[in-house]
Amino acid sequence: MATNRTFTMLKPDAVEKGHIGAILEKISASGFRIVAMKLTQMTKADAETFYAIHKERPFFTDLVQYMTRGPIVAAILEKDNAVEDFRTLIGATNPADAAEGTIRKMYAESISENAVHGSDSDENAAIEGAFHFSGREQF
Ligand code: ATP
Ligand code: MG
Repeated sequence: MATNRTFTMLKPDAVEKGHIGAILEKISASGFRIVAMKLTQMTKADAETFYAIHKERPFFTDLVQYMTRGPIVAAILEKDNAVEDFRTLIGATNPADAAEGTIRKMYAESISENAVHGSDSDENAAIEGAFHFSGREQF
């Protein structure tokens, strides 16, 4: 099951700017089915756990502050080849390097405030989905 699912967050900057609808439209038009979705806000402990892999990086404190400053949209998405295809749809981490038509090219501000998260492996998609959603919230 994990092989055709990925996990995403529309990050606080995208929500603040009113881009939820436009980004979800692009995700749906790209063939992803919504398995689970909610508007939620991460606590400091949540963000520190979610991004624990980056805890030694110089940007970690700023990353936690950014990801907790307002609500996010968390979602589990399903499609063949979901992880890779969603990473292609969102574009490079730095919007300056992102391809034309990608979500980050269209909606991201900078490498630190880049509008959207996408899981980087099937294993992480399953971990991240389970971090935000119980089994009963997945359809
Ligand atoms: P995400 O995991 O959010 O989908 P990503 O996989 O493209 O993004 P990662 O390397 O996992 O990139 O970095 C996680 C997040 O940390 C980035 O999305 C961005 O918000 C922030 N970040 C990454 N690199 C930098 C950097 N050099 N300077 C500032 N912030 C950064
Ligand atoms: Mg990442």
